[in-house]
Amino acid sequence: MNSRQGVIPLDRREAARARRVTLIVPVYNEEASIGVFLEKVTQVLTRITQPVAVDILFVNDGSRDKTERLILAEAAKRPDISLLSLSRNFGKEAALTAGLHHATGDAVIPLDVDLQDPPEVIDDMIRHWLAGAKIVNARRNRRDGDSWLKSASAGAFYRLFNAMAERPIPRDVGDFRLMDREVVQAIRQLGERSRCNKALFSWVGFETEEVLYDRPARAAGETRWSYWKLTKLALDAIFSSTTVPLRIWTYVGMLMALGSLVYSLVLFIRTLVFGIDVPGYASTTILILVFGGMNMFALGIIGEYVGRIYTEVRQRPLYVVRSHHISDLAEG
Ligand code: UDP
Ligand code: MG
Repeated sequence: MNSRQGVIPLDRREAARARRVTLIVPVYNEEASIGVFLEKVTQVLTRITQPVAVDILFVNDGSRDKTERLILAEAAKRPDISLLSLSRNFGKEAALTAGLHHATGDAVIPLDVDLQDPPEVIDDMIRHWLAGAKIVNARRNRRDGDSWLKSASAGAFYRLFNAMAERPIPRDVGDFRLMDREVVQAIRQLGERSRCNKALFSWVGFETEEVLYDRPARAAGETRWSYWKLTKLALDAIFSSTTVPLRIWTYVGMLMALGSLVYSLVLFIRTLVFGIDVPGYASTTILILVFGGMNMFALGIIGEYVGRIYTEVRQRPLYVVRSHHISDLAEG
C-alpha cells in the first residue's frame, strides 16, 4: 500500500504487533459499487493516522451478478481482502451476522458498500477505540441521501421502539459502528434467528462513544430495501426485542371487560325497571364488530410471537457458508 503525506507507514514487524480492525461489508448484487468502494476505502486507509492495520471482509450474500468474481480478482492482488460467500441470499441482517462470526480483527466495523457509511469517519472511530471505548457509534447528522418519507418513517420507528424496548436504540445510528472484540464475543452468544442487529448491538451494553457524520446519497447501484422490507424489519425489531405489545392487550382486555361489566349492569337494571326493550340492532352490531376486530388484532399480535417461537425452536442456522477466502492479513 503506498503511503501519502501525514501517514506513518507501519513496517512488517510493527504491523504484526499492531491491533487490527476488520471492516465487514455485506454485498448483494453490487458489481457496480465494488470498484468505487475499494478505491475510496483504499484511499482513506492510506491516510489513517492511528497505529492499526485494517483488513476488509466482504460477505457475499448470494449475489447473482459479477460481485463475487470482482472481489476475488481484487483479493488475488492484495493481502487485506477476505471473502465469505453464503449459499444464497439470506438478507443483510444474516449476512452481517455471518461477518461478525468470521471477522478476526481486534475490532470490527460493519459498513455498506454503497459508501453511505463514509469511510473517512473510520480514523476517528479507531481513535476513540484506542482511547478505551468498546463501541464507537457513527451518528448521522442529516439523512441527506434519504427521501422525506424515509426519514419521517425512520423517526416514527425509533420513537415507537424506544418507548417499548428494554434498551433504547440510538436515533440515526445504523449498523456503521466500531465494536471491540469483547463486544463481538458478546453478540456471538446471542443466537436468535429473527434478528435486528441494531437492537442487539445496543442490548449488549459496554462503554460507548460517538462520532458524527453527514450521510451522503448512495454512490452507485440501487437500494435493495423496499418500504415493505423496512416495515418487516421494524416489526421484527419490535417483536424480537420486547413483549410490551402482548402486555398492552392485557390492559386493553381489562378495560374492555370492565366496560362490558358496567354496560351489562346498566342493561340488566334497565330491563328490570322499564321492561323488555326490543330495538337494539345498532348497539348489538357495534359491539360484535368492535369486539370481533379487537380480538382479531390481539390474536394477530399473539401470532407474531408464536411465529417467532416457532422459528427459534427449529434451531436452523442463520446462514449457510458456501466458501471462504481468507486474506493473509486476516490469517496472520
Ligand atoms: N445487502 C445484503 N443483502 C441484502 C440486501 C442488502 O448484503 O439482501 C447489502 C448491500 O449490498 C449493501 C448493504 O447491505 O452493502 C446495504 O444495502 P442498501 O444500500 O441496499 O440498503 P440501505 O442503505 O438503503 O439501507
Ligand atoms: Mg445504502
